[in-house]
Amino acid sequence: MKTIGLIGGMSWESSIEYYRIINETAKEKLGGLHSAKSLMVTVDFAEIEKLQHEDRWDEATEILVKCAQDLEHGGADFIVLCTNTMHKLADQITANVNIPFLHIADATAEKIVASGMKRIGLLGTRFTMEHDFYKGRLINNFGLEVLVPEKEDRDIVHRVIYDELVQGKIVDVSRDEYKRIMEELIAQGAEGIILGCTEIELLVKQSDSRVPLFPTTLIHAVAAVEKALEE
Ligand code: GLU
Repeated sequence: MKTIGLIGGMSWESSIEYYRIINETAKEKLGGLHSAKSLMVTVDFAEIEKLQHEDRWDEATEILVKCAQDLEHGGADFIVLCTNTMHKLADQITANVNIPFLHIADATAEKIVASGMKRIGLLGTRFTMEHDFYKGRLINNFGLEVLVPEKEDRDIVHRVIYDELVQGKIVDVSRDEYKRIMEELIAQGAEGIILGCTEIELLVKQSDSRVPLFPTTLIHAVAAVEKALEE
């Protein structure tokens, strides 16, 4: 079994989900007392959040590259970055380590393509919904059509992530807002919806949606175990 290298803390509310899911999945696949071999480095999310919102991506890159290198030196066989947003820096991270990087958008897109869907809704931080690093990958590498909410609703989705979910607050009214926003995407033709922020699946469950949901933490964590168990 390979050792999974996790870059966590963005936020730790979702990192613990990664830890739980990779171990549950290893146990499910291997049985008995098996668990996943892993290393996790955890950043201080307050530092990262500040750099994101001040558009200081170069400084955030330095921090995450150091995390990835620490994982490599510690014996990790590949890198799992436990956040969608910070995949904005995926190219810079991969360029600075010698071990593979398991991209969250690729793992998610593979599931969507396998399901036969073409038009997909995307919820995430403003960075994930608006910048090209995520949508562009889904469109150009996987031929998907990606729908995001309109500006006012993107602001709501973003605010709920930073003011509530990464702080461990699960608020019913916000779930209702997400449900309304998902309905709007469905009305525009979304056949499924990517929960493209690793905390959203703490708030929204499949039972809250009429179309299939693609929870990125679950998908990414299971893909990590599958990779760890590859020959
Ligand atoms: N965990 C979130 C994501 O998946 C947001 C926190 C962050 O900005 O990294 O995008």
